[in-house]
Amino acid sequence: MSTRRLLEETASYAADFFEGLPERPVRQTASLEELRANLGGPLPDAPADPRAVISDLARAADPGVIAIPGGRYFGFVIGGAVPAAVAADWLTATWDQNAGLYVGGPAAAVVEEVAGEWLKELLALPRDASFGFVTGCQMAGVTGLAAARHAVLEHAGWNVEERGLTGAPPISVVVGQERHTTVDRALRFLGLGSGCIIPVEADDQGRMLPDALRSALADLDGPSIVCAQAGNVNTGSFDPIAQIADVTSAAGSWLHIDGAFGLWAAVSPGLAHLVAGAYRADSWALDSHKWLNVPYDNGVAFCAHPEAHSASMGVRASYLIHADETGPRDQLDWNPEFSRRARGFTVYAAIRSLGRTGIAGIVERCCAHARRFGEALGETPGIEILNDVVLNQVLVRFSSDAHTDAVIEAVQADGTCWLSGTTWHGMRAMRISVSSWATTDEDVERSIVAIRRAAAEARQ
Ligand SMILES: *Cc1c(COP(=O)(O)O)cnc(C)c1O
Repeated sequence: MSTRRLLEETASYAADFFEGLPERPVRQTASLEELRANLGGPLPDAPADPRAVISDLARAADPGVIAIPGGRYFGFVIGGAVPAAVAADWLTATWDQNAGLYVGGPAAAVVEEVAGEWLKELLALPRDASFGFVTGCQMAGVTGLAAARHAVLEHAGWNVEERGLTGAPPISVVVGQERHTTVDRALRFLGLGSGCIIPVEADDQGRMLPDALRSALADLDGPSIVCAQAGNVNTGSFDPIAQIADVTSAAGSWLHIDGAFGLWAAVSPGLAHLVAGAYRADSWALDSHKWLNVPYDNGVAFCAHPEAHSASMGVRASYLIHADETGPRDQLDWNPEFSRRARGFTVYAAIRSLGRTGIAGIVERCCAHARRFGEALGETPGIEILNDVVLNQVLVRFSSDAHTDAVIEAVQADGTCWLSGTTWHGMRAMRISVSSWATTDEDVERSIVAIRRAAAEARQ
């Protein structure tokens, strides 16, 4: 009975938090020192009542919890969490399945199977592509590029899983200048090193230039991988994927797409042109915790060559019980993890609760909100919009670098909304990323007022 009471009380702390979101300051309200004082203390020696532990935790952590699930968090590229996915996450923790093997969680395995098929259909990816649910786009990139590494070296007569990279034919990885930093990190993890990167020039929006890619590939012989980007983290722009696919297929390179949030454009009939040709790639990296709005952490790797995917990730051990070829799906054959959380439940619940039209609606609403930010701020004297607002990202520049940083700081301190800064083409800029299902028109208008007020105050 006391476990039931614990869970019911916890549900009511969660509901209180959720209901408080519209009026809560978006920023933290306690300092680092206060949080350390609230949450710290000596190592407990004796057990404590779980209900007291959780009520103390909820109270002590609260001032250090950012209102990310609310409608006015515009930092980085961070989605909220739709209610069905939050609830599915509670069940995921409660069921505590080990979703590495089918036998560690049969329902978890089947739900990933179903959700993976749904995702491919939503994103217009090849129906026979393989997939693995991972922690986020960083690990989806590692997974996709591990499959790429396997395939391009196998083609060169080298078994990288057996022989490693020592003595292997060198791989060139050709990427746009404005790639996400996690691509470099994935290459480090895979032993290719950031030194294998050949950067290709990009245009003023950060889009890779296909002609520059063609000449970069013409200068190479030996195995090559090309990483294109769907959704630049600053501008939201898309590499011209169809043209890039023409170039990579002519050159015989593997094409990987980093599509953390941008691949979701495929769900909207009005935006799908931005990812035209994406289905022609060899591997794709996607986030679910961004635009699908499931709780952290959740991303997906897809691969058009299931044998390369499983050759790079698959694992066998005598004490395990592996599914056979025609039977169920063991997730550890498609993931870098071994024991793992059942990540499919939240994705499954989000897709079921939203449907295709609901997901498209989130993406389209976020883009409309971003356009509204761009228009309203762009017509304010002394404020300039640096990017073409093609998706959900807006880069805002005030009168100088110093003024821009001062406005960002003032907006953060004000607490109406939260956003941060970046340096774009040598200039400081405020970044607004609209990625949450929860953002309303009113949230946007309140935030525009707060940003204008901060701009006026910061100038004085
Ligand atoms: C967010 C992002 C990543 C990294 O994703 P994580 O989910 O943080 O691991 C990679 N690429 C792009 C374009 C992103 O926006």
